[in-house]
Amino acid sequence: EECRAIFSQAIGENRTYLMEHECKEILESMGIATTGFLVAGSEDEAVEMSNKLGYPVVLKIVSPDVVHKTDSGGVKLNLADEDAVRAAYGEIVGAFKYQHIIGVAVQKMADPGVEAIIGVTRDPNFGPVLMFGLGGIFVEVLKDVTFRVLPVTLQDIDEMIQEIKGYPLLKGYRGKAVDIDALKNLLLKISELVLTFPEIRELDLNPVFLYPRGNMTVDARMFVS
Ligand code: ADP
Ligand code: MG
Repeated sequence: EECRAIFSQAIGENRTYLMEHECKEILESMGIATTGFLVAGSEDEAVEMSNKLGYPVVLKIVSPDVVHKTDSGGVKLNLADEDAVRAAYGEIVGAFKYQHIIGVAVQKMADPGVEAIIGVTRDPNFGPVLMFGLGGIFVEVLKDVTFRVLPVTLQDIDEMIQEIKGYPLLKGYRGKAVDIDALKNLLLKISELVLTFPEIRELDLNPVFLYPRGNMTVDARMFVS
């Protein structure tokens, strides 16, 4: 089906890196909420898409050569109107003029939430390993992440969520509790995805915004082979 087509296109082009819009198309096909996979090929098209989505929007570089989009000026957040979209489009295309650009992704600016990260790697001995943690300083400074070898049960996922140090944040310490059931469901779907497609060598959702109701995957990348 459509996931296989995306994998075989990448592998056919000798690419191991799946771009954000490709990953999000795969995730959406699994019923995972993302900020979408629209890609504009021109400034006018970016404006047209933005008008349809409604403001504020986000523009991001789409290139098989750019894995860390923010580092090189490839992410423009919170664009309030058509003028801002035109300016951001020009800046992105200008910043990457010596690289192979597929286009510019156009997304709605997601509401802020509790930031989480979800990853999968394949260990040569243990096979696929699922990682979950909270984003920002929790992962960067505190290394507050937890791992399980796949497949996982709902019980395993429960334990993963409860054993991170940031768990009180999920339960609503100084704020509203996030939707734990939706988070569990997302972790289960990611496990299912990786077990279904051996092509996925590595997967990284960073960040996922967790809300009192549901969640939103804001960025995704995969490595395939
Ligand atoms: P990269 O990780 O490749 O640098 P991201 O797509 O993760 O790029 O974007 C960088 C940051 O910008 C994210 O961590 C998130 O905080 C913010 N961001 C990106 N896309 C959106 C969006 N659609 N809505 C809200 N915030 C976003
Ligand atoms: Mg990211």
